[in-house]
Amino acid sequence: MDCVFCKIANKKIPTEFFYENSHLVVFKDIRPSAPVHYLIVPKEHVQSIAHLEGNHRDVIAAIIYAAKETAKKLGLSGYKLVFNVGKEGGQVIDHLHLHLLGGWNLKKDIDAMPHPGLDK
Ligand code: 5GP
Ligand code: ZN
Repeated sequence: MDCVFCKIANKKIPTEFFYENSHLVVFKDIRPSAPVHYLIVPKEHVQSIAHLEGNHRDVIAAIIYAAKETAKKLGLSGYKLVFNVGKEGGQVIDHLHLHLLGGWNLKKDIDAMPHPGLDK
């Protein structure tokens, strides 16, 4: 199947995984829309949340648990978890994935620091 996330999850496109288990892989979003932006992607091709069936309960639980563990390992105290569903929901890649977004507080702290020589 010509699906970029299938290729990444099946290691046909070399990608550095932050985490991997039998259900899923976790890697950085190529075009981050937050200071910290990871994607949690099941190895099985499922098009979207709208295409879930009863036998996907284990994988969806694994995805949410992996997001929580990733956030913990990254030291994020707060974050957003987002599933875009369908074209109207902003989904561009038709292979189910969970966005883990965070790190804004860190960025705010850095921006608030004085930068000698630059602050005129
Ligand atoms: P969507 O809009 O479908 O929910 O999000 C797809 C996400 O996948 C986007 O944030 C986009 O930047 C990311 N993405 C698309 N292609 C690649 C890729 O080849 N590698 C990685 N790491 N991220 C990708
Ligand atoms: Zn796929």
